[in-house]
Amino acid sequence: MTTADQRPIILTGDRPTGQLHLGHFVGSLRSRVGLQDSHHQHILLADAQALTDNADNFEKVRHNILQVALDYLAVGIDPTKTTICVQSHLPALNELTMLYLNFVTVARLERNPTVKAEIQLRGFERDIPAGFLCYPAAQAADITAFKATVVPVGEDQIPMIEQTNEIVRRVNRQVGRELLPECKVLLSNVSRLPGFDGKAKMSKSLGNTIVLNASDKDIKKAVNAMYTDPNHLRIEDPGQVEGNIVFTYLDAFDPNKEELEELKAHYRRGGLGDGTVKKRLEGILKELIAPIRERRNELEKDPDYILDILKTGTDKCKIITQATLDEIKDGLGMFRF
Ligand code: ATP
Ligand code: MG
Repeated sequence: MTTADQRPIILTGDRPTGQLHLGHFVGSLRSRVGLQDSHHQHILLADAQALTDNADNFEKVRHNILQVALDYLAVGIDPTKTTICVQSHLPALNELTMLYLNFVTVARLERNPTVKAEIQLRGFERDIPAGFLCYPAAQAADITAFKATVVPVGEDQIPMIEQTNEIVRRVNRQVGRELLPECKVLLSNVSRLPGFDGKAKMSKSLGNTIVLNASDKDIKKAVNAMYTDPNHLRIEDPGQVEGNIVFTYLDAFDPNKEELEELKAHYRRGGLGDGTVKKRLEGILKELIAPIRERRNELEKDPDYILDILKTGTDKCKIITQATLDEIKDGLGMFRF
């Protein structure tokens, strides 16, 4: 599916549950910046979705809308190329979610591997908020309301896209034609950056992040806290690169792949200390984050400018999502005055 200008449509987004971090940078932000010319890109600040597991903390979600928007602009998302919008201000998405809930079963929602893992992570086993269980249907509403065909996300979101496509097929069958396009995941080459604590995923909810305006001191502290090879006790010992978080990060961020390969070989042979490898990573991360932090600090001085961008983007998206909702309601044969 393409717009009149023939560029493929992207829908992507983040939950405003905290500032964005390096996981987002390599998992999605970097590619979003690269895709905004060749694609018709929309980014959704998923505040309604964030409330599905933050119903006791509306303030956190409200506050982080501006924070995440600042992160977008600081990394180079250009609001004249990419439309940024606020989910809770797009009522068509709610209506669409309600419709889609008729096309999914509770058992299917419970089987969704991402939902399952997140229920466990959040300790919801005995008491799952209904909104949380149903969020894959809401995510399908987000994606399809824009008729997006490309969804750049991290690895944890693959089951969401699978479930979205199931709903798309179900709706199209009911309507009797290909009203909605199926979408495909666009994975970056680092689709799951581990936390600096070694946990499988750097995540706002786990408190193991390096944020995009981290100070040099924060960066140093996080890098120093990283586990290396536990058997690499003396500098002359051969060390293991696989599973060594410092090397995982170097793989994700080191621009000089050739030097990195030499470094890995040296580490494997022995004779290279963890301190030296960490120093290299620290330098790379400092260099990466410094300009982002500076831009972010500048932008933060003018919140009205950011709010204006969000308002303009949301108004545009209101029209797009309402048009799709009307088309689906007509296609399904719902009553209309
Ligand atoms: P929360 O803990 O509130 O769920 P999060 O850190 O997982 O926050 P999200 O807003 O849920 O962040 O994720 C937004 C997007 O960023 C998703 O596409 C997700 O796959 C991607 N993403 C998040 N964390 C990482 C990571 N560590 N590595 C790669 N991609 C990531
Ligand atoms: Mg998440």
